[in-house]
Parts: sequence; C-alpha cells; structure tokens
Amino acid sequence: MDICTIGTGYVGLVTGTCFAEMGHNVWCVDIDEEKIKKLCNGVIPIYEPGLEEMVKRNKEEGRLRFTTSLSEAMENSLFLFIAVGTPPKEDGSADLTHVIGVAREIGKNINNYKIIINKSTVPVKTGLKVRQVIYEELLLRERTDIEFDVVSNPEFLKEGAAIEDFLRPDRIVIGTDNVRTGELMKELYSPFLRNGHQVLIMNISSAELTKYAANSMLATRISFINEISRICDASGADIEQVRLGIGSDSRIGMPFLYAGIGYGGSCFPKDVQALIRTANELGVPTEILNSVEMVNIAQKGLLVEMVVNKYGKDLSGYTFAIWGLAFKPNTDDMREAPSLEIINGLVEKGAKINAHDPIAISVARELLGEHGITYYENNYSALEGVEALLLLTEWNNYRRPDFHRMLRVMKTPTIFDGRNQYDPKKMKQMGFEYYCIGRNGNN
Ligand code: NAD
Repeated sequence: MDICTIGTGYVGLVTGTCFAEMGHNVWCVDIDEEKIKKLCNGVIPIYEPGLEEMVKRNKEEGRLRFTTSLSEAMENSLFLFIAVGTPPKEDGSADLTHVIGVAREIGKNINNYKIIINKSTVPVKTGLKVRQVIYEELLLRERTDIEFDVVSNPEFLKEGAAIEDFLRPDRIVIGTDNVRTGELMKELYSPFLRNGHQVLIMNISSAELTKYAANSMLATRISFINEISRICDASGADIEQVRLGIGSDSRIGMPFLYAGIGYGGSCFPKDVQALIRTANELGVPTEILNSVEMVNIAQKGLLVEMVVNKYGKDLSGYTFAIWGLAFKPNTDDMREAPSLEIINGLVEKGAKINAHDPIAISVARELLGEHGITYYENNYSALEGVEALLLLTEWNNYRRPDFHRMLRVMKTPTIFDGRNQYDPKKMKQMGFEYYCIGRNGNN
C-alpha cells in the first residue's frame, strides 16, 4: 500500500519507518527543510533506539522516501497520516494550527480518493474540523466530486521504546464512521496484529477522547503515587514498600506507580491541560484532572525545595551535579523535562551546575544555554568537587554506579535522588547523605 506521513517528528518518522518495514511504500513529508535534508542523507534528527538502522534499511530498499513536497508525496498515496505537533496554547488548549494547515494543503492538492488519518493528538471534534477545511478547499477548486474520509487513529507509542511499541501495539484505536474505511485501516495494520492485539473500531469522537483519557489516566497514577510519597515522608512509611503492597493487587498493577519528580515530556503535561480545557468548554468540571496537574507542578519543585532546606535560599558558592536531563531514559526529548525547571531553579538561586546526560546534552544546551551550567560527557567528571548530586533521569548507566569513585571525587557525598534508584540504608552505610522521594523516614 502507498502511505504518506505528514510531519516527520517522533511520531511521523517512527510511523512511516515501521510501515515501510512491513513492506509498504512510504513518503515522509515535513516542512522543515533541514530535517528532510538530514534524513535524505541518512542522518536521523532524533534519538530513538533502533530507528537509525531501520530508516537506513528501508531507505536503501526504496520503500522509504523523504520530501518537503506534500503534493508529490500524496499523489499516489491512499493513506495520508497527519502527525504534526499539537503544542499547548497559553490557555492550555491544543494548538491546531499545524493540523489545520496540513488539512488545507491536502485540500489544495487532493486529486482522488484519500483516507486522511489524524495521528496527532487532537481534541474531540477535530476530525470534523479537518473534514470541513478540506471540503472548503475543494469548494474553492470546484472539485467537490473528489471523495475522502477522515479517520482518527491516535498514537500510543512511548519515546525511548517507540519502535517496539509501534511494531507490537497493545491495541490500535481507529475512529471512523465508515465501515469500509475501518476495514481498509484494519488491513493496513494487519502486519502488526499477530499476537491477538486488538483493533478497536469506534466513532471518531471516542477515538479522539481515548488518547487524552489514556494519557490523563497515566498522569493520574503518577500524581497519585507522588502524593502518597509525601504522606510516606511525613509518616515514616516507605513508598517502595507501599508501591509493592498496592501494585501487587491485580486491580491496581505495578506500572506507572513510581514516585519521582513529576511527569514531563511532550505529551502528559499538554494532554492533561488540553483535556481540562475541552471539558471546561463542554461545561464538565475536572476536579481530578486539576489536582493531577497541581500535584505535578508541586512535585517538579520538590527537589529544589529539598536543596534549599539543606543549603539555604542563597546557593551562590555551591556547585551541584545533575545526572539526567532528558524527561525520561532512552530519548533526547527535553520538552517539559523536570530537569529544566530544577536546573533553572538552582541557577536562579546562584548555584553552578555540572550537567551530564548520555544523549540529550546538545538538545539541553539549546534550551538551557551555558549560563551557570557546564556540560560533561562523562558522568563521574561532572561530580568532581560538587556539593551534591541530583539524579533526575533513571538512565541505565546511573543505576549501578561506582559509589567508591563517587565518594572520592565529590566534595561532600550528598545525593538527592529524584528517581529512587538506590537503597537508602545502603547509601547511608556507605557514607552518603541520601535524600529521595517518599523513603526519607526510613533513612
Ligand atoms: P514533533 O514536534 O517531533 O514533530 C512534528 C513535525 O511536524 C515537525 O518535524 C514539524 O516540522 C512538522 N510539521 C509541522 N507543520 C507541518 C506541516 N504543515 N507539514 C509538514 N510537517 C509539518 O512532534 P511529535 O512528538 O512527533 O508529535 C506529533 C503528534 O503526535 C502530537 O500531536 C503529539 O501529541 C502526538 N504524540 C506524540 C507522542 C510522542 O511520544 N512524541 C506519542 C503519541 C502521540
């Protein structure tokens, strides 16, 4: 089948590449000329494990092509995936400028039947807007004879495991009001459905809302466990033990119950906010979602509060090491990463920062600059002479570090562990002053 993905970012590039891997012919389109030039030269603009080899293989075998020309890419494609960004507007609602812009371009260029698929995360009723915009363009061209369908097909992949998630999805959600289109979508996805994974066909609004509900549910679990972790710290309970205690209940389960420094990334914060806005517009109160967001905002500030409690409000003269800048391991994505707020909070108070991340340093440097921050390629070098280490991302190589080496190079052996990576008792025995999340009563 011939496919075109419009928007070649984390979602569009992975989608296009995985479809090509299954033998489909794919055009990936982006308005970012630099990005397309890189991809044409075999340079992958993002870090995603396994992606580079897969892009290279499919490009060499002629199934995966890159262009800035939508008209060229869509000419022979039946399926047009819209995978552009939907960032938050100032009021928290989803900015649909890119999605609507793409719809307009499709309307200008469409010459025969197409299935237009919204893979971007978009609020309920966006499918209708996309249809309307395309129709307006067809009216202008006096080509209302051209037929098309608009489908919602939200994406659930996780950055850092995007290929695996796309190739082996838990489920595929398809929102359509046309039975035949639903069947064509099922056929398109059939190579990914070998292990009894489900295709859930539903109406468009339900599919659109499913994506927001899923991300909000996951964000709710994170804020919930973070709130419980505060009760643990205040009471002497240990969040790790409580987590095991509740997670082993099959009604609750273990995933997404890790206390930490709050959720970040390009999806959870914006999707919770956008769902609140949608609900408010519909007149539906959102007390749970409001609290999820408030708890998260507070949690992102927790580590700076802990540092201030120990060293005071004026941090000039202190240098802190940061391990982990990306919002989670195995990605270079820094959008809404808690590290941004934490580092800015410390620098504002006069601290100097030695920052390390295995992958995200160049992205971080663009966002954080150099003021007060030195970036290190080696995580132990970042520790030399520092007052304390703040661990912000649970990259594998921070899990079992050489603690003896750390004790030797740090000025004072103090760790603020935002991801509960180490055992508080062992850390104390080794001579560290160790602060973590929801396990401090046990220290
Ligand atoms: P991204 O910012 O990485 O990529 C978006 C791309 O679209 C950019 O390369 C941009 O240049 C391009 N673009 C913008 N306007 C365009 C246009 N008119 N024509 C062609 N290209 C255009 O975004 P992303 O992280 O891939 O997210 C895309 C959508 O998928 C968002 O709605 C997001 O919420 C959703 N989503 C993201 C993830 C994730 O983990 N990143 C997961 C699931 C869903």
